[in-house]
Amino acid sequence: MTKTRIIGCTCGKTHFEVEGEPFLVSECLCNSCRAAAARLERLPGAQSMLTSYQATPSAEYRKDRIKILSGAENLREFRLTADAGSRRIVATCCNTPVFLEMKGAHWLSVYLHLWPAETRPKPELRTMVGDLQDASGLPADILNLKTHHLKFYAKLLAAWIAMGFRNPKINVTGVIDA
Ligand SMILES: [Zn+2]
Ligand SMILES: [Zn+2]
Repeated sequence: MTKTRIIGCTCGKTHFEVEGEPFLVSECLCNSCRAAAARLERLPGAQSMLTSYQATPSAEYRKDRIKILSGAENLREFRLTADAGSRRIVATCCNTPVFLEMKGAHWLSVYLHLWPAETRPKPELRTMVGDLQDASGLPADILNLKTHHLKFYAKLLAAWIAMGFRNPKINVTGVIDA
């Protein structure tokens, strides 16, 4: 049987179930992730989702491997600009950002702060380091990639093939501004 795990927001009202292991665990240093984090942490009660060196850690899950168990009514989407293709979903019960959905993507980047420390997946690499003006503060424990690596795209494609090229819809309609 595949292992499932329950993860959730800080206050415990919004829960998700993830099935199996993520197909990739990484930290993103891109301008959009840093800008979004800076805006979302201003929401009442919110905590920063960045590491001390400005990275956003997330686990990539196929959309058909994640279920909303409770708190669906708390979820709102946040876009950096009105016409941005990507959206970040926030659990507004405690203003915890929960995941990033890229436009047309078959996967979700689930923020690692949803896991308790003991079971939190470990990042394998950092991407988009080239967006930083000064990358000298990054630890050298894992690969620091300037953009996205071929391995990153290969994993995304492999996951989509395994899904039979389907793209399940994530139903979040409410909007939040920050
Ligand atoms: Zn909450
Ligand atoms: Zn990013």
